Parts: sequence; structure tokens; C-alpha cells
Amino acid sequence: MTETTTAADFVPSFVRGDWWTPAPGAWATPIRDTSTGEEIALVPSEGLPIAAAVDHARGAGRERLGELTIHQRALRLKELALHLNERKAELYELSQRNGATKGDCFFDVDGGIGVLFTMSSKARRELPNSNVVIDGALEPLSKDGSFSGEHIYTRIPGIAVEINAFNFPVWGMLEKFAPAFIAGVPSIVKPATPTSNITAACVRLIVESGILPDGALQLIAGSARDLLDHLDYRDMVAFTGSKRTADALRRHPNVQEGGVRFTAEADSLNAAILGPDVTTEAPEFAAFVRAVVTEMQVKAGQKCTAIRRVIVPHALVEPVIEAVSARLREKVRVGDPRAEGITMGALASFDQLADVRAAVDSLVEAGGRVAYGSTDWPDATAGAFIEPVVLRWDDNRAEALHATEAFGPVTSVLGYDTPQEAAELAALGAGSLVATVCTFDMEVAGTIGRAIAGHHGRIHLLNRENARTSTGHGSPMPHLVHGGPGRAGGGEELGGVRGILHCMQRTAVQGTPDLLTAVTGVWHRGAAQRRVGAPEFGGAPEGEGGAAHPFRKALDALRIGDAFVSPLRRVRAEDIAEFARTTGDVFYAHTEPAAAEANPFFPGIVAHGYLLVSWAAGEFVAPGRSAVLANYGLEHLRFLTPVAVDDSLRVELTAKRITPRETDDYGEVVWDAVLYNQHDEMVATYDVLTLVGKREEQSLGGGE
Ligand code: NAP
Repeated sequence: MTETTTAADFVPSFVRGDWWTPAPGAWATPIRDTSTGEEIALVPSEGLPIAAAVDHARGAGRERLGELTIHQRALRLKELALHLNERKAELYELSQRNGATKGDCFFDVDGGIGVLFTMSSKARRELPNSNVVIDGALEPLSKDGSFSGEHIYTRIPGIAVEINAFNFPVWGMLEKFAPAFIAGVPSIVKPATPTSNITAACVRLIVESGILPDGALQLIAGSARDLLDHLDYRDMVAFTGSKRTADALRRHPNVQEGGVRFTAEADSLNAAILGPDVTTEAPEFAAFVRAVVTEMQVKAGQKCTAIRRVIVPHALVEPVIEAVSARLREKVRVGDPRAEGITMGALASFDQLADVRAAVDSLVEAGGRVAYGSTDWPDATAGAFIEPVVLRWDDNRAEALHATEAFGPVTSVLGYDTPQEAAELAALGAGSLVATVCTFDMEVAGTIGRAIAGHHGRIHLLNRENARTSTGHGSPMPHLVHGGPGRAGGGEELGGVRGILHCMQRTAVQGTPDLLTAVTGVWHRGAAQRRVGAPEFGGAPEGEGGAAHPFRKALDALRIGDAFVSPLRRVRAEDIAEFARTTGDVFYAHTEPAAAEANPFFPGIVAHGYLLVSWAAGEFVAPGRSAVLANYGLEHLRFLTPVAVDDSLRVELTAKRITPRETDDYGEVVWDAVLYNQHDEMVATYDVLTLVGKREEQSLGGGE
């Protein structure tokens, strides 16, 4: 840290809807072009407006976000992704000054934008268009159905503080911001000092778009050591960085005693295991070597997911080292990423260069022997460059080998005897983000995969069949868990909608069907209905007092609890026989009386379940004009009571969940369907999934 004397600009923070920089002369840390050493920006280390940011997030941020639903916020993310996609050149340029090649920029910038697209579409497909998410099934807690319980998610009552590592200034921010935003929780982003200028540039592009509500995203650029002092049990911290910092922050009193929710994605000694079945000629060998070299080269090995331990059968240690070395010689040209032909840039800072060199030195001291590269570090260099280093180990259990992370283009090759030993060695990392298992032997894949799964957040199974299509060992996918146990930080919340739910509180709610309906906005069986249909089952005849079949109501008129009840219909032997004949479903329970009677579940010939479901549709589908545009499926279908010849059947259909689409003139309606027999026993239950127009004038269909 230095007192500022140069003309370089401060990296600004974005707080309360405005940009903030300290007064000239404030203490700051310089950011340098890591290829040339030129000072390009200053990161303030004092006077940061943290209290103002927290206050604004708690006030305006929560209020503005709460005015939108999950789908509305998700759509804004998609808009934002499109906006950033148009303007990413600026982020590429800045990243190159930080040592990133074009390929590295793609990982960080396009990867981050990709997360926004994926999370936006997953949220709209998998979550309701409301602010309450029901988790799991209803738990009946009383015999008569008047008291049951279930779980709901609502957004946490505070804010999300997202502390990021230096290696992914764009993706790291967007990966955490996206789920918090969709959940409705305001974010304060704290980037790592060495690349905070890139994050700040991305935040500026976001602010300029005007897409986000006030207070949804604020930026604190600077060392912010007292950040956690401002938080309490309502808030969450999502940290990415080294294990050392994660451990220190976990000990903060506001986390330990104050209840701040804290999760960490930390460093890890990821492994790649080559199966004992693989020969040097096998396609798996080439795929494995490619994966190892890619993970050394991309971001100059500054990836939390990079392969640090290459675990191969003893006999293949030398062939693997040779093949990796040959490929490194062929593929890796270290230098200024803006220069022609360069395939690996500088490390992200000069401090980082010193750290990596020191880590390699300590690995060598602990028994690692240099198999590729050199530890004769050049003296002063203009750039933070380092050539790849491969180490070989005689002692495959050396402590440092499984504990020291050299956060650069550095990897170790070690041998094993049996698949069990390979799995044990991988587990010595004490919890990792990811491991690759490369084999064409399904038994090996099963043995090693099952043995190491509990030690890892992700397992990448690689062979000749997916070598071309695999997204790679080192790429966490926005759909899948990113995080890992133990040393990796213990996080498993990122990836898919679980990332959104992580920003929400799960609460058990107990009550009557009406009370649960009131809280969730989803109709619960047993809650009040407005029944139309058969008077003998409480239905108002259509047309009487304005009663309308719920299928005739567009979304602007339809309400949860709108129901149709049919009269009873008798099941005849010839109906069952005819259904068996036309469908070809001649299962003996529908066609052979003696065999049906001998079956422990049936009284004799019974109706096909699918006949009953088809009949039910025949009962509840409204003739003539309808607001329903399509039926796109059934869910949770269960046949509960067999229906014999001469039994009767009726159906009750109730609007259960209504989800208008934000971008279309229609929405999804889920209908609760229950089939009863003449004794009022439940015969079948299921959900009917339909698309329904938003306004009556859109109604299609025949009639009039
Ligand atoms: P770091 O030194 O641990 O710093 C991480 C972040 O914590 C930085 O933003 C840092 O800010 C901040 N920080 C440090 N002390 C703090 C405090 N008292 N209060 C609030 N914030 C504080 O890690 P790094 O060097 O940036 O990143 C490299 C490490 O991250 C590697 O070990 C890598 O494996 C790990 N990583 C893990 C993942 C993952 O998903 N698991 C992803 C990427 C990186 P300053 O920079 O201002 O000090």
C-alpha cells in the first residue's frame, strides 16, 4: 500500500446510486499492467463508504427488489446479459492488461454472461412467478386434513455481501449476483484488489444499462477489512478466495456469534486420475494429457479448479510426464497476451508471481522433482510471467504434495498401484472442488467415482466418447454444483436454482388448507373452492348467477380455487373391453376374469388407469369456447383404488397454481385433479398442466 502520488485513477465504488472515490492523496494500492509493469489504477484502502452501502441495500434495495416477482427479476437478468454481450470488448481489453489471453477472457467474461442467461431461464422454468417457493410435498399432520405442514422459501431478510477472488473478476461477481438478484436480495460486491478495476468496469456497464432497480447492486472497491462489522443475522456473506482468508472471516464475531450466514468457495488441490485400463495408445490417454495441459494453460493455472495432482498408474508416470511436456512445449507460449502467438499470459499480479514461486520452492523442498520447467527464477522481470512447471514425486503421500496450492501453471504427477489407492490419494486433498476420472472401464469408473464422490463437489468422468463434447475439468457449469467439502470451503450452494434458494430462508408452515393457501398463493386440497358443475356435488350449474366453467376463464378472471365437479359415470364391462381392443393394452387384469381375481390387488376385472384418466378429461373439458390453449402434461399421477365393472367415477378439477408468463400472452395453470368412486374414495390424483390465455378475447376454440 502506498500514499498516492501518481496520476492514475482510483478504482471507484458504486454506492447509493452514485460513484465514489477518495480524496486525492488517500492511501491506495496500485494495479499494474502485469505484462509491462505500468501503473494503471489505484485501489483505495481507507474511508470506504461501507455503512452507506449496507444502509442503502437494506432500504431502497430491498424495497425495489420486493416490488418484482422471481420471473420479473429473472427477465431483467436476461436483458442485462444481452446488454453486456454487446459491450464486452472493453472488459476484454482491461483483462488483457491483467495478463489474460483472449481465451482466458472468454472464460471470465463470456462465462459470466452465460451464467446470467442460464440462471434467468432456469428460474423462469423451475420456480414460480411469485416470491414464495414451496419446497417438497405437503405433510399431513391430522387425520381429517385440517392440519398439515410444508416448507416454503422466502428471501432472507437482509443483504448479500459477495467477496470475490482476483482470478475471475467478471464471472466471479456474476455467478453470485445472479442468484441473489433473482431471490430478491440486494448485493454488495467486494472484488479482490488486483482485478477490482475490471469488476468496476463491468458494474459501470451494468449501471449504464438502467436495467437494475436502485440498490440491487453496489460495489465496494478497496480492501474493506471491516466489511463484516456491518452485518447481522439477516445477512449472508458469499466468499471466494483462499482457505486462509475464509478461515479468518469465519472467525469474525458477527459470523460466530452474530449469526451472519457465511459460505466459502476456497482453494483446493484438485486431482485428475488416469484409469489402470488406459494405455498410451488409447484415446483416453490423449484426452487426459490434453485436460492436464489445458488446466495449466488457461488463466496461467490461476483457477480454483485447476488440476494440481495428476494421479496415474506407476507404469504411466514417465509416459504421462513426457506427453504433458511435449504438449506444453507445443502449445504454451508465455508473454504479453496482446502479442501475436502468445497462448499463456502473465499472472494477475506481481505479488501473485512471488507467491507461486514460493509455493513451487516449498514443494521442491518437500520432495517434488522438477520434470518440466525450472525453479531458477529469472531476476527482475517487467512482467509477472512464469513458465509452466511439472513436478514428479517419489513419495506419493508427501504432505506438501496434497496440501500446498501453487496458484499458477504448476502441477504434480504421482503414481498409484490400485484404483483404491488412486481414490485414497485423491482424498488426501482433504476436500476438493473437482476431480477428473479418465477411464473406458465402467468398473473402474464406478469404483473410483463412488469412493471419491464424498470428498468432492464435482466429478468429471472422461473417456473417448465425451472427449470432444466435455466442457472440461475446470469449467464449473451454472447448472451444477460449484463448491466442495473440506478444504474447498464446504460450499455446495452454487449451481442451478439451489443457488437462488440459498439466498432464501426455508420455513416450515403449519395450518389448515385455507391458511396454507393464503400464505403460499397455491391452492391446497381441502381449501375453499368456487364449484361449478354437478349440483349433487355442490357445483353451481354453468350460467347460473354468472357461474362459468373454469376452463372458460382467461388468466385475468381465473382464480385459484375455481373448480369444476362432474357427475358420476358408470364403468361398463364393454367400455373396458373396448379400451383394451383399441389400445392393445390387454393386461390380464383388464381382460381375463380368473387371472384378475387371483391378483392380490384386484377384485376381478378392473378398468385401465389410463381409461379413467381419459374419461376424467372427457368429463372436465368444457365444450365450445375455452381459454385453455393446450394441455402439456400430467404430473404426480397415482392410482389409489381399483375401479371394477359397475363402479362409478367422478372428477373434481381445481385451479391450483397460476403462473402468468412475463413475455407471452398466456401462462401456465396447474389443476389439481381427483377422481372419486361412488363411495367417495379417491381413485386417482394428479396435476393437469395447461397453457391458458391471459385475456378472454384470446380464447380459441369452436362453439358459437
Ligand atoms: P484471498 O487473498 O483469500 O482474497 C479473497 C477476497 O477476500 C479478496 O476480495 C480480498 O480482498 C478479500 N478479503 C481478504 N481479507 C478480507 C477481510 N478481512 N474482509 C473482507 N474481505 C477480505 O484470495 P485471492 O488471492 O483473491 O484468490 C486466490 C484464491 O482463491 C486461491 O486460493 C483460489 O484457489 C481461490 N479461489 C477459489 C474459488 C472457488 O470457487 N473455490 C474460485 C476462485 C479462487 P483484497 O484483495 O482487497 O485483499
